[in-house]
Amino acid sequence: MRASSEATFVKRRPGDGGELCAVPRSDASDVAAAIDAARAVQREWAAVTAVERGRLVRELALALEDTRGEAANLVVAETGKPAELALAEADAAVEMGFFVAGEGRRLYGRTTTSAMPHRSVMSVRRPVGVTALIVSFNTPLPNYAWKVFPSVLCGNTCVLKPSEHTPLSGELFGRLCSEILPPGVVNVVHGLGGEVGPPLVESPQVDLVSFTGSAATGRWISEHAGRRLAKVCLELGGKNALVVCDDADLDRAVEWSLASAFSNAGQRCAAASRIVVFDEIYDEFRDRFVERAQSYETGPVISEESLERILLSLEGAIVLTGGTRLDRPGWWLAPTVVADVPRDAELSGAELFGPVTILYRVRDLDDALALVNDSPYGLTSAIHSANLHRALRFVDEVEAGVVVVNGGTHGSEPHMGFGGVKQSGTGWREAGVEALDVYTEWKYVNLISDPSLT
Ligand code: NAD
Repeated sequence: MRASSEATFVKRRPGDGGELCAVPRSDASDVAAAIDAARAVQREWAAVTAVERGRLVRELALALEDTRGEAANLVVAETGKPAELALAEADAAVEMGFFVAGEGRRLYGRTTTSAMPHRSVMSVRRPVGVTALIVSFNTPLPNYAWKVFPSVLCGNTCVLKPSEHTPLSGELFGRLCSEILPPGVVNVVHGLGGEVGPPLVESPQVDLVSFTGSAATGRWISEHAGRRLAKVCLELGGKNALVVCDDADLDRAVEWSLASAFSNAGQRCAAASRIVVFDEIYDEFRDRFVERAQSYETGPVISEESLERILLSLEGAIVLTGGTRLDRPGWWLAPTVVADVPRDAELSGAELFGPVTILYRVRDLDDALALVNDSPYGLTSAIHSANLHRALRFVDEVEAGVVVVNGGTHGSEPHMGFGGVKQSGTGWREAGVEALDVYTEWKYVNLISDPSLT
């Protein structure tokens, strides 16, 4: 892990604020070298059969499985999350590899009919080329897996840019790739987003920018990659809502609300940062939820800057529990529940990406849907109700890419597409076979035969 200039920056442990490591502060020349390395072998890699590429992805998944303990330890150190969560994330990344590997034996196209006699038409998937894969810190191993595995399976070569907050897991993932894949297929560039991101996004040698992160960075990427009409896939933030109806199983609704709001310290794009409760049960739900939140154990947030930003946004808010920095080293915020926030307040619309959720009181399902849909985002959503009709109406009318009935605002599994509407993304879906659409282009092949030659 080195930058050509030998410059570094310090990465600190969120759990105690101590120095974890020095990270290479790569610059535009390192980015250019990584893109050149990817470009140099792209055609060769695309010529390897999809079945063989799938076999190598399976090897990668197996190697990650073998190192799951080491990988999880690195993630614990660089994010501060509990070990069992980091291990579960390592396993999720491995499963993604197994799922994607199987696509090497499918990668299906289509055949169709034609108005012309003796003409056969089929569509085949072709690689996009060189891909820039830029990811967030929150679940680093799955974030690498969701992009790198389908990208290489589809015949692309890539430059992976891990978050500056998770350099060690990025380095380990890159090492496994370099041990198993031919040189140049996966290239890792460390560094600060504002320094290495722009040369990556703006390079005419990059055919696809696939990004997971904040809407602000996504907007910048879309504008700049858009100028050169590059393919861009953006998976962005959320202000996800979980609705609790008056006929819900309250125990279940409280448990799912806690996990949805506070697991991974609320640093999940799918976190429930708005909990929308029917008037009749609001007081009871609030009391039970706040009591349980007080003993909910979660990790620190990722950085001092993040903690300060969250605390600043809570100024003036009615905080039922939490809202304060814990008296210990590192960046710890107690699980925080806020109430009585006006629907049009900035806090109601902005993603905080921390262990903070807002309780809203609603009259009925119409009121709940109006509130839930009045958001710039539309990533995930959930409703708790025993009434099938109510649940199905919510499923139908909620503006979100994912909807869950009687569960949490949780994310995806490897075989399920994941993504959002409105400012949560640009219409692509990651994971599932849907990911193949991100990392391939369709080519339509027309075969016209001459029957007189038979
Ligand atoms: P971020 O936007 O600050 O950073 C994401 C990545 O972009 C990092 O690697 C960073 O170094 C890089 N970056 C920063 N500036 C850049 C630039 N100008 N050009 C190119 N790259 C640049 O986001 P974050 O704080 O790491 O992550 C939190 C956000 O990610 C939240 O909004 C969360 O909802 C979102 N997220 C979305 C999903 C999803 O699937 N929709 C999943 C996880 C996280």
